[in-house]
Amino acid sequence: MHRLACLLPLLVACSSPSAPAGLAEIANGHLQVVDLSYPLNESNPYWPGENYSSFRFETIATLESDGVYSGVFSMPEHLGTHLDAPNHFEADQPAVDEISLQDLIAPMVVVDVRDACQGNADYRLRTADLQSWEAQHGRIPEGAVVFALTGWGQYWDEYNRYKNEDAEGQLHFPGFSDEAAAFLVTERSIKGIGIDSLSVDFGPSRTFSVHHIVNGAGGYNIENVANLEEVPPSGAWLIAAPVKIEKGSGGPVRGWAVFESR
Ligand SMILES: [Zn+2]
Repeated sequence: MHRLACLLPLLVACSSPSAPAGLAEIANGHLQVVDLSYPLNESNPYWPGENYSSFRFETIATLESDGVYSGVFSMPEHLGTHLDAPNHFEADQPAVDEISLQDLIAPMVVVDVRDACQGNADYRLRTADLQSWEAQHGRIPEGAVVFALTGWGQYWDEYNRYKNEDAEGQLHFPGFSDEAAAFLVTERSIKGIGIDSLSVDFGPSRTFSVHHIVNGAGGYNIENVANLEEVPPSGAWLIAAPVKIEKGSGGPVRGWAVFESR
């Protein structure tokens, strides 16, 4: 059917190439698009664990000297806006290159917990927050990716403030609660969760239980998400494009939030 519809005009005059309606609407600017990724640079926050390091970039050719501009970069998989593959915390789960492309497109649910995080850096998004989102916007769609909008992104440009380490070496920033993560994977069959802070587990976590719950169910996490406050609470779609590292535990991700202009 589609084939015929395309071939017939070709014989006459093929004025414009056909594209799935939604994609054409993105490309021609009729749909709104928000960039969910921060630019990579050497001052990006990263997980302050052993063997982790900052983003590095070195220019290896310049237009002036070489007639071509080119660089080389290195970074941990879990730096900047990035995706945790299901194999990050659980064995026998897909690596980043094994996540299906269909699973990287999903309805976006944005749960605004900025007020709760204002006076409590260690706030964890609760099931009650999900229930009040559902009271307003309807049931969380199956296969959604659920984002916590904590407001922590305001500190993105100050690594020390962003990781918020106390004198005892404990980090403090908001995350998801275990019960909310468990509810989402068991009761709502989500594809993953995301957050505008350093980790989906709150700063003081030592067990990374939220990572285990989501990865254990075959889901992924997206961390250090940018511009979440520009995305409507419901109705947007996520397109996530992680770098395809063979057997990787994750990697930097370019993310689009796509929605109808209101
Ligand atoms: Zn990660």
